[in-house]
This record gives sequence, C-alpha cells and structure tokens, in this order.
Amino acid sequence: MKPRYLLVLAIVLTFIFFKYFMHTVQEYATTVYINGKIYTCSDQQPTAEAIAVSGSKIIGVGSTEYILAHFKSQDTFNLQGKTVVPGLIDAHAHILGLGNALQNLNLVGTTSAEQIAEMVQKKVSETESDWIFGRGWDQNDWSDKDFPSHDILDKVSGNKFVILTRVDGHAVWVNKKVLETAGITFATPDPEGGLIVRDGSVNPTGILIDNATSLIDKIIPQKTEKEIEESILLAANECVKYGLTEVHDMGVDLKTIKAYFNLIRENKLPLRIYAAIEPFDDYIRMQRSATWNAIIPRGPVVNFGDRLTIRAIKLYVDGALGSRGAALVEPYSDDKQNRGLTMMSEDSIETVCREALKHGFQVCTHAIGDRGNHIVLDAYEKVLKDWKGVSPRFRVEHVQVLEPNDIPRFRELKVIPSMQPTHATSDMYWAEDRLGSERVKYAYAWRSILNTKMLIAGGSDFPVESPNPLLGFFAACTRADKNNYPESGWYGSQKMSREEALKAFTFWAADAAFEEDWKGTIEEGKVADFTILSKDIMQVPQKEILDTVVEFTIVGGKIVYQK
Ligand SMILES: [Zn+2]
Repeated sequence: MKPRYLLVLAIVLTFIFFKYFMHTVQEYATTVYINGKIYTCSDQQPTAEAIAVSGSKIIGVGSTEYILAHFKSQDTFNLQGKTVVPGLIDAHAHILGLGNALQNLNLVGTTSAEQIAEMVQKKVSETESDWIFGRGWDQNDWSDKDFPSHDILDKVSGNKFVILTRVDGHAVWVNKKVLETAGITFATPDPEGGLIVRDGSVNPTGILIDNATSLIDKIIPQKTEKEIEESILLAANECVKYGLTEVHDMGVDLKTIKAYFNLIRENKLPLRIYAAIEPFDDYIRMQRSATWNAIIPRGPVVNFGDRLTIRAIKLYVDGALGSRGAALVEPYSDDKQNRGLTMMSEDSIETVCREALKHGFQVCTHAIGDRGNHIVLDAYEKVLKDWKGVSPRFRVEHVQVLEPNDIPRFRELKVIPSMQPTHATSDMYWAEDRLGSERVKYAYAWRSILNTKMLIAGGSDFPVESPNPLLGFFAACTRADKNNYPESGWYGSQKMSREEALKAFTFWAADAAFEEDWKGTIEEGKVADFTILSKDIMQVPQKEILDTVVEFTIVGGKIVYQK
C-alpha cells in the first residue's frame, strides 16, 4: 500500500475509534441530579430532567436516561420529581441592612408600649451588647395613641442603651441612659427641623423627632469589623434559606468590602455578591468617599474567591414615592405644590459615568419618579454617545414611574431597568393617590418595557421588602398581594409571564451583572448554581405559588442550604 493510503486509513480508523468512545466511555461527574423537573431558562433546551456536575460546573443537562448513560458519578441525587430552577438572584438589595434588621428588635405590628417593654426586657437578658436597637413601632396602632416615654423602657433596660425607631424612620424612642449620655436635658434647644418632645414643655420624654434624632448619633458606637462580619453572615444565611445564590448589594462601603474579603478567605460566605459601591460620603458636598478612592482607580474586582465581584457604582437621583421624595415631572396628585426632590443633577451623573467608564465600572442609579428617570436617561445618553466600546450596561434602579416616551429608551440605549416587583404590590394601595389615574398607567410598567424587547433585572430591595424571591416571582406574574388581592392583578395588563418572571430573577439578573456567560441558566459549562423547590412554580395554580418552599440551595455545586 502506498503511504498516502495508509495515512487515509489511519485517519479513518482514528475517527471511528473516537466516535465509538465518545458514545460509550462515561465522563466523570461529582454529582448527578436525576428525575427532576428542571426549568433551565435556556431557550435551546428549556426543560430537562437531570444535571451532571463536576466540581463547581455543570457538565451535562438532559433526560435522566441520557445523564446516567453518559456520566459516571459516585454521588447520585434523586430529585424525586422536585422542581429545579437556576440559582435565584436578587438584583437589588442591601445585605448589611438585612443583617442589622435581623439583629434588631422588629417592632412592626406591636400593639402597646408595654408589649415593646417586654420585648426589650427579653433582649436585655439575652444579649451581651450594651446597645439595644429596634424598629417599626407606630403609636397610631395602639389604644393609647400618645407618644410613649422613657420611663417604661428605664424599668426594663438595666444598664443598657435602648434606641427604638418609629416605623417611618422619622422618630426615635430612647431610654433615659441615652438622653443622659447624649446630654439632652431641659436646657437643650430643639434643633432646626427637629423636635425634642417634652413633658409639660420642660423635660425630654425620650421621643426625638426628625433632625432631633441626630442628637444621639454621636454616642452610637461604630460597628466593629467582627460585628459587620456577623451581620453579613446572618443576612447571607437568611438569603440562601430563600433560595438566593447571588445578591447585588447596592451601595457598599469599604468596611463592608473588607468584611466580604475576610469571610471569603475563611470560606464562610454561602452565596455570591455583586457589589455596587457608595461613591460619596454625602450627597450635599458630593465629595468622593474613601471607598471610591480605594476601589475605583484600581479597577473592578471580578469573582474573587468564586464569590465577590465589585464593578459598579451606586448613585441616587431622587427620593421615594411613599414620602413624596420621588422627582415627578408634574406635581404630586395629592400634594399640588410638590414635584419631589433631586439629589444629583444631570451634569454630575454624567461626570461620574465618564469616570466610571474610564475605570471599567458600571453605573446603577436609583430613580423612582418620571422626572428622576428622565434625568438619568438623558445623562446616560450623552455619555453613551461618545462611548465606542461594548455596552457598559448602565442600570436604572427601581424605574417606578416613567414618561411614556422614555419607555423605549432603555432598549435603545441598552440601559438595564432593575425593578422590584414587590414594590408594586406594596405601593398599590396608595400609588394612585400620589400619581393620579393617568400617570399610574406608566408606573411599575413591566409589560410596557418587555414589549420593547428589553429585559428586566428582578430584585427585592430587602430589607425594605422580604428577601424571599418567590414573593417577587409571585408579584411579577400576578400583580397581587399575598392574599391574592386584587384577583386579576393591579393594572393586570402589566404582568410578566411566569417564564419572564423566572428569567428576571435568574438569567436577566445575571445579564445585569455581565455574568450571563457563566451563570443564570442551567446549561453545560455554567456554574452549578441552582435552587430546588417543593412545588412546580411554573405550573401550579397561582395561589399555590406562595406555598412553595425552598428545599435545597446549591452554589458552585455545593449545598449551602438544606431544609
Ligand atoms: Zn435599595
């Protein structure tokens, strides 16, 4: 035989050999998950029954038969028909805020000052800390609607400091030890914009309102590094209970970042964090924070320890709708003198954006009112016009009220709307009072945005809302509250489909963090982040969605929560 034919024969034999082996030799997997109902959020293969995982990565997705035939694994996880979705992601939340809220007394729904005193007494006996914080009381809910006084707290607080914030954050109730230590006496004048409530107009009673609350700021100790780490861990462990595998932490400072690094080095952080830094110490002087100076010039941190990415800057353009701080184009329907407030001008947003682009950071700007959103979109548009690189995926956080003309601009500018479905179902009882019947049609307008072929990143803004992403999923596809009110949804034509709602809390949230290539769906080659649920949230009747519980949360192939 001529050498030429030998070569051809060798090639053909090699080809047949490999083809044969590719079909019969099994690949090694660390774990195979079989017999599940898997929603992958991938358009190529939307559903599957089984997943093969090697280490932290997905190496195969398909039917149970296919996975068992192709993968050899020591560990087989029988899903027994349970539902699996890509690891849930909260695209807008506050980890440290949740940790603090979990550590402090939750006084929401309390019915008397006596009941609160009992809660304080119990906490005093349990904690080693000298400081007791609480939040959520509202004397309007009590039979005695007068403000309470420090006496009742003094009886139960021993040697500890007690600071209890009213539900709206505009008043605090403190014990005598706090008043004395802060030097607040009959001789202390009311500060501008604040009130020290007094007994017979002489002695402070322990209630400080608005700017008077800042009189005690100086005596509250800063949290130690260890305390911050504890708070973060408490919150992170709460998050994985709800099936979250990643949180976009909006507005972190240097201390929080340091705590994240420590926790990751010690292998303690159960989920992934995508962090946006707090750029200013205060918005009045707009002086760059220590966090900015330490982080921005060095460029983004990407996937440190397979847990932490820092590549965004959080800005605020306006306030909130509830307190009429959101910037509206026309006055509030229930306050005709007021159009809300702005915290940044278009120019200053533009300046931050240009700096962010120079160093490789994304910008995420809080905008709630239609005027707020318009200012941000205008600023983004100017910057993006001069930008030649790939889309920096600037984001607007909340996007609650839009002028109709601004709806298509998100898609046009490739600006990501990051929205919190539970805000709509919390605000729906009064939003129309603030906005009137015309503007409200373009509020929380998910369908209008999706119709422009733009994605929406889903979040909760915890601790403002619950961290439970299934509540967000439910709100997104029903626009109803937990009691299924209103039955056909509040402005029901703006609902998302269940497929869209699931993508908002997985694939689209990953996209909002430049992570869609390695997470957000259940596909070969992506990280093994997924959430195993007790019910099929894509199929069960609407009212059963909220009975669903998380059975397992898996991050990078490891179980980080098990019911
Ligand atoms: Zn927020």
